[in-house]
Amino acid sequence: MASLQGFDDLVLPELRLRAGGDALWVGTTFDDEDPSRAQVFAQIPEASASDVDAIVEGAWIALKSPAWRDLIPLQREALLHRFADAIEADLPRLAALEALDAGKPISIAETIDIPATVGWLRAYAGWPSKIQGRAGGLAASPAGHHVYTRREPVGVVAAITPWNFPLVLSMWKIAPALAAGCTVVLKPAPETSLSALRLAELAVQAGLPAGVLSVVTGGGDAGARLAAHRKIAKVAFTGSTRTGQSVLSASIPDLKRVTLELGGKSPSIICKDADLAKAIPEAAFGCFFNSGQVCYAGTRLYAHRSIYEETLAGLAATAAALPMGVSSDRGAQLGPLISARQYDRVAGFVDRALASGVQRYGDARVVPDQGHFYPPTILRDVPVNAEVAREEVFGPVLSVTPFDEFDEAVAMANDSDYGLAAHVWTRDLGVAHRAAAELEAGTVFVNCILAADPAFPFGGTKRSGIGRENGPDVLDAYLESKSVVVALP
Ligand code: NAD
Repeated sequence: MASLQGFDDLVLPELRLRAGGDALWVGTTFDDEDPSRAQVFAQIPEASASDVDAIVEGAWIALKSPAWRDLIPLQREALLHRFADAIEADLPRLAALEALDAGKPISIAETIDIPATVGWLRAYAGWPSKIQGRAGGLAASPAGHHVYTRREPVGVVAAITPWNFPLVLSMWKIAPALAAGCTVVLKPAPETSLSALRLAELAVQAGLPAGVLSVVTGGGDAGARLAAHRKIAKVAFTGSTRTGQSVLSASIPDLKRVTLELGGKSPSIICKDADLAKAIPEAAFGCFFNSGQVCYAGTRLYAHRSIYEETLAGLAATAAALPMGVSSDRGAQLGPLISARQYDRVAGFVDRALASGVQRYGDARVVPDQGHFYPPTILRDVPVNAEVAREEVFGPVLSVTPFDEFDEAVAMANDSDYGLAAHVWTRDLGVAHRAAAELEAGTVFVNCILAADPAFPFGGTKRSGIGRENGPDVLDAYLESKSVVVALP
């Protein structure tokens, strides 16, 4: 058994349960690697097509079962709160699993990932009693009808998620889906299956009826089988734009409901009047947090020419000061990339940029030699058409470009296939609101970064996705309106 970075007591029971050949699993398995050490530490069941079918069937039966379907709203709320309680009580173990699996610093898993997962579930746990049908329409007409509209769960939901924030992004889907009365089959990324498996156990412990939340582990084949399954009514997907396109294609025969949270290449603009002491470190952290593996990371930075060199120097100083380390290092703020494949992808973008004449700002930082660590990298004077300024790198790589006029910065910011987020730092309220109106993005951050909350919608324009998660709007994605028309005698 590979080193578990001292998390042994917390994660060993979980790993024994998951070991290939275990009585609980007789199918094939795949390796699970600790990205901090580049060592395999667990085996995960690889769901076959018939496993996927059986799990979807179980979710379908659960959808129709009185134990779930006939809960009155307050009972559903109480159950979801019990589920949140169980997750909260399991925080140390979930955080250790998430940290080992995703390469996250443990302190970040403990203070951000797991609390956010609980927070999202609690936010939507309060919704069942607030989801309203409507009465009206023809009701007042002389034709004498009583018309009302029911809001019904859309059906069995496939939640397909990536590896960068495994539990958080799963809960963005699970919480509103369960609040709406759907059942959910979760397919985590193969790199980060463990916390999802633990989540399903906690759901059962909390009293959710069997099949209401199940997990399918595996890679693209399992995901594709799930996304195309006849009994899946809705796919809630977060991942790359390319896979999102496959999911959308697979939805066509059954006209499944689909929401897609996809890639990004989010711009940041620092105006000359900005509070630089705040803007520069935020712009750096907004790109390098989670080692750049954040869909709405600010990866293209446009800084006014009058503050350009000061901005570059400040970005480099912030990057150099971010402690990097393995998951168990409590002082670390940056971890490794998820895999050797992702390392090669990120290094490839940087190497091609340098070979094309783009300059690195400052020296490459020394990083731990074991594991998939990649140094925070700042590229200066990056032309708008450079590959590294157009493609999503999904690593700690910041492209910086100067501008002279605000309109020019907005034009460069909008010159992208993506439209997930955009950032602007200015003290001028008029400029801030103009930027908010003109920037093509699902979220515009003014003098801040990386905020997400169940209170407001999140999602992308252009190739960054379809539909929104979070906010009250997301419930519409998990509900169908059914009109009932009653002719009065
Ligand atoms: P990915 O698209 O490779 O995989 C995402 C999930 O889809 C995984 O669970 C994977 O197993 C599954 N999958 C693969 N092929 C499939 C198929 N044909 N049908 C159905 N499912 C399939 O993405 P990734 O590499 O895991 O994650 C990185 C990407 O996710 C980045 O592009 C990033 O921008 C994006 N992302 C977006 C958001 C957002 O909210 N917009 C958030 C996080 C990550």
